[in-house]
Amino acid sequence: MRYAIISDIHANLAAFQAVLEELRDVDRIWCLGDMVGYGPNPNECIELLRRLPHIAVAGNHDWAVIGELPLTDFNDDARWVCEWTRQQLTPDNLAYLAELPTTIVQGNFTLVHGSPREPVWEYLLYPRTAQQNFAHFQTDYCLVGHTHVPTVFQGPLLLAERVDGAVTRPFHQMLTALEQGRTVGTELPEALVRPNEPLHLGTRRLIINPGSVGQPRDGNPQASYAIYDTEQGTIEYHRVPYPVEKTQAQMEAIGLSQRLIARLSLGW
Ligand code: ZN
Repeated sequence: MRYAIISDIHANLAAFQAVLEELRDVDRIWCLGDMVGYGPNPNECIELLRRLPHIAVAGNHDWAVIGELPLTDFNDDARWVCEWTRQQLTPDNLAYLAELPTTIVQGNFTLVHGSPREPVWEYLLYPRTAQQNFAHFQTDYCLVGHTHVPTVFQGPLLLAERVDGAVTRPFHQMLTALEQGRTVGTELPEALVRPNEPLHLGTRRLIINPGSVGQPRDGNPQASYAIYDTEQGTIEYHRVPYPVEKTQAQMEAIGLSQRLIARLSLGW
């Protein structure tokens, strides 16, 4: 099976379509939230996603649009787009956003938007925060979005690491160790992003961020996503160019802020 891991589409239809063009051999999409906010095509993006085999969790922008989070938590630009998006969305698409769970466990993967500890809000940008979060999910792998930066945090050994057939590291042992203030694993999780090499799922627990489809923030404006290949046991990172100016022209026509328009060209 091949799963596409996507996040933070942010109503950027041109970027989403470019990614989908590459997903023809994918069995299912795992979407990590923020389908809307910032971009000009909220209905189109939600409807496209809904037509595909997928599972999805809610992001902070999705929640803001449906009124689940106060808009005062957002900066002026983001707040304006959230209000505009709310007016645009069909009742059916609003209902779709309202029904999204905040956490999904799928096999050995936990899917959230922000972090396993704070699924909607917390940003996992730094190893220290990532390290704390390894105690907050009960699978070996956690998929997160929200920062718009492709990242892999490598954590402690796999939970069910087996020696001579016996499980040596059950989850509760690790939790007890954390509660007692002992470190689990020997080092801070390492932040790895090697976009050109597949990441092999092996001996360590991982927190994996595929980057953002619709508003990348790592200095590369191309849409970002990842593929989990169960047969190979790998996660591969991908970047796709898309017509940024097409999205920007639509944002211009709606009257979205120049700052939001400009950042798409920069990938920042
Ligand atoms: Zn986002």
